[in-house]
Parts: sequence; structure tokens; C-alpha cells
Amino acid sequence: MSIKGKNAVVTGSTSGIGLAIARSFAKEGANVMLNGFGDKAEIEKERSGIETEFSVKALYSAADMTKGAEVTAMVKEAEAKLGSVDILVNNAGIQFVSPVEEFPDDKWEAIIRINLISAFYAIKAAVPGMKARKWGRIVNTASAHSLVASPFKSAYVSAKHGIAGLTKTIALETATFGVTVNCISPGYVWTPLVEKQIPETMKARNMTKEQVINEVLLQAQPTKEFVTVDQVAALALFLCSDAAAQITGANLSIDGGWTAE
Ligand code: NAD
Repeated sequence: MSIKGKNAVVTGSTSGIGLAIARSFAKEGANVMLNGFGDKAEIEKERSGIETEFSVKALYSAADMTKGAEVTAMVKEAEAKLGSVDILVNNAGIQFVSPVEEFPDDKWEAIIRINLISAFYAIKAAVPGMKARKWGRIVNTASAHSLVASPFKSAYVSAKHGIAGLTKTIALETATFGVTVNCISPGYVWTPLVEKQIPETMKARNMTKEQVINEVLLQAQPTKEFVTVDQVAALALFLCSDAAAQITGANLSIDGGWTAE
């Protein structure tokens, strides 16, 4: 069975990995709720473009993932307007790079809220419907940093290790209900999130842009290539298929060999 006719919420899908996942689901015939920040006109163009290109319903929620009540309301709105939430992708995320003693308190807390706590609220709101219908797919975008650490990323590494633990726990709680819960752990994917951390890393490590790309980012990846957003989306799509019904509680690396070292 494909995901045609299923309803999916993808957080942080106005850009990067989330947008590629939402588009790949819509291409397979799923209705999608987009979420994230950005230019209103561009988001509307993307939303209506998905509807026309793939003949599905596409909604947009501006819910702020730092606010639990807004996350819950987003899931409820998707259930009300689409009929159900069958697939939930917790993908919204931000990054900030700084030595711990200089790490701004508000950035540390925002990373934990957006990258971890929002997933709790979305899962809490979506699981009752999934259990009742005996079908559901939850995919969390974790990171290689859910398995290993890098200096100067204390908040991000903490949030990503947290989401890996949340994934395993909810997988156990939903295992007999036809619901699977997994996380995907990409290495470096070329998206605005990675581009934005280059100046911060240049400062933290006293390096040039080229040095950051080759000696920090691609240094970690034995293949010496960035992962693409389409490769991550293809894995998310597979996890939503019936072929993946027995994959649950897993943390799937897509990192060019990074965490094999
Ligand atoms: P991105 O910056 O392109 O996209 C992030 C998305 O999250 C955007 O849609 C943005 O608007 C949204 N967002 C940010 N703050 C938000 C908030 N408060 N409320 C709602 N939405 C918010 O980044 P990306 O690289 O596509 O990252 C997506 C996910 O993938 C993140 O969880 C990130 O940690 C993870 N990841 C990325 C990489 C990488 O190399 N790019 C690697 C591993 C994991």
C-alpha cells in the first residue's frame, strides 16, 4: 500500500529537508500540512504549487515550534481540516555553534524547544488518532549528532540525543497499534541550516569558509560528499510504506559513513 490519500504533517517544511519530505509525500498522493517560517508569499506559492502539481490538499500552519500550545493546535487543525493525521514528521530544527561558556541562554533553550520539546507536543496530540485507527507513521529528523558529539554544539547534540530516546520510547508505547516511530540521522545535508552555521564555526574555530567546509563539515563524512535533501526524503517515504511496517524504534543513519568511524 502506498501513502496515497494519507494525511501528513511535516514540521519545519518551508525549507530544506522538511520541504523535500513534504513534496515527496505529496508526489505519492498524500495530503500535507506545511509548517515553518519564511516569506508569506513564497510559502503560499509553495503550498498552492504542491496542490496543483500533485493534485492533493496542501495546508500551511504558521505554528511556532517553541510554543507547545501552538504545536498541539497545529495537529488539531490538520485533523479537523484533513480528517486525520496519519503521518507526522517532526523535522523543524535550528542550530547554534558556540563554546559552552559563551552559549547564549536563549539560544540553548530555543534549540531544545524547537528540536526536541515540539516533537513531544506533536506526538502527544497525534498518537491518540493513530492508535484508534491502528495505523500511523512518526518520523523524527534526528542527526548524526544523535549518536556522536561535536564540540561547540552542546544544545543541538543534547536535543538530538533526546529525540533518539523519545523515538525509542514512543515506538515501544505504540508497537501493537500499527504505528511505527523512527528517526533519521543525516550527516551534513546542504541546506540553509548548514550554510548559516559556517560563519559561526569560522569564528569559533578561527577558520576560513573553505576550511570549515573541507576540514570540519566534509571531514566528518568519509564519502566527502554532502547528503542531499532528496536522499533524506526518499528514506522518510520508505519508512511510511508498508514494507517498513516492522521497522520501529530505529535510528537510521544517512551520513556518508560518519558514524561508522
Ligand atoms: P532549514 O533551516 O532548511 O529548515 C528548518 C525548518 O524549520 C524551516 O522550515 C524553518 O522555518 C523551520 N523552523 C525553524 N524554527 C522554527 C519554529 N520556531 N517554528 C516552526 N518552524 C521553525 O534546515 P534543515 O537542514 O532542512 O533542517 C531540518 C532538520 O534536519 C532539523 O531538525 C535539523 O536539525 C536536521 N538535520 C539537518 C542536517 C543538515 O546538515 N542540514 C543534518 C542533520 C539533521
